[in-house]
Amino acid sequence: MRPISYSRASAVIDAVATVAADPTSDFLAGGTTEVDLLRQNVLLPRRLVDINDLPLTQIEERPDGGLYIGALARMSDVAEAAAVRERFPMVAQALVMGASPQLRHMASMGGNMMQRVRCGYFRDGMSPCNKRDPGSGCGALDGFNRGHAVLGVSDHCIATHPSDVAVPLMALDARVHTEGPHGRRVYPIDDFFLLPGETPHMEHPLEHGELVVGIEVPGLPAARSSTYLKVRDRESYEFALTSVAAAVTLADGIIGDVRLALGGVATKPWRARRAEELLRGAPARRETFQRAAREELASSRTTLLNAFKVELAQRTMVRVLETLTTGTESPS
Ligand SMILES: Cc1cc2nc3c(=O)[nH]c(=O)nc-3n(C[C@H](O)[C@H](O)[C@H](O)COP(=O)(O)OP(=O)(O)OC[C@H]3O[C@@H](n4cnc5c(N)ncnc54)[C@H](O)[C@@H]3O)c2cc1C
Repeated sequence: MRPISYSRASAVIDAVATVAADPTSDFLAGGTTEVDLLRQNVLLPRRLVDINDLPLTQIEERPDGGLYIGALARMSDVAEAAAVRERFPMVAQALVMGASPQLRHMASMGGNMMQRVRCGYFRDGMSPCNKRDPGSGCGALDGFNRGHAVLGVSDHCIATHPSDVAVPLMALDARVHTEGPHGRRVYPIDDFFLLPGETPHMEHPLEHGELVVGIEVPGLPAARSSTYLKVRDRESYEFALTSVAAAVTLADGIIGDVRLALGGVATKPWRARRAEELLRGAPARRETFQRAAREELASSRTTLLNAFKVELAQRTMVRVLETLTTGTESPS
């Protein structure tokens, strides 16, 4: 048994100060990831600072049509909020397709953004893993890696980023607000998630003790016609093999604004910028979608077991784009 001290913070400033002062401490929100990893001896904090009393549960509408979502808003509350369902359907859909109803009632938005990877070599607490134990190697590279990433990988880590809701948030250029030992910061979401490179143990640019306080989602007309498609081994309670969040505007068959991001295939929620570039201003037809999808996945690095994800991700992209632009799904 390892003793762990527990306290509840009632002000953001106290939570930040307590965790910042002790390198062996962690924040505790819904606990749906943190407690699992404690039990498995993957995380070994000596102090937990419970943040559930902090006033960070708001889901506020902004004058530009955007939203500000507090870090302690529960996944289920965000998924059910009318403003989210109407203005950002892909965000609501991604939330509902994640985890299970019980987990979504507990799990917070901040915790979702900070959740750790589902790689079995990270989570067994024993295998070589450069994330858990820097420099120890990566068991997944030559191991069972069917679910692992094909984009953004390095020689040191190929773990897939697990979050669903981070995928539409990436497509929408959301911004993550934090409060830390050195004050308030705002991160463009693309900078909030780090690629593994040579330092896979660093998943975010945050300092120890820096608390996510909210997520700002800018108003975007295209987001009203958006959708999230998640492909997985079973229809519920399962992480994505591939997923696509897309928002598109169309005029006379020509694509105007387009936002695309991929989940389940990359080491961070993956903004499909190359595909967006090819789609913007192009006719909305299958050949265009296929080319954009092909080029986005062109830099994939696969293993024997996960190579199928390249084709699957392309098909998922094409299907989502066809659904959004014609209202009908392709047979592929
Ligand atoms: C069986 C199972 C299935 C799941 N399936 C899915 C799925 O399909 N899709 C999906 O997206 N997710 C899935 N999840 C993950 C789930 O969404 C996360 O566990 C949850 O969102 C984490 O939120 P939490 O509030 O419980 O965080 P906690 O477990 O309390 O914390 C998670 C981590 O974030 C840190 N943290 C928490 N809040 C903050 C904050 N405000 N600022 C800084 N650090 C913070 C904690 O210290 C900890 O390291 C699944 C989880 C389980 C257990």
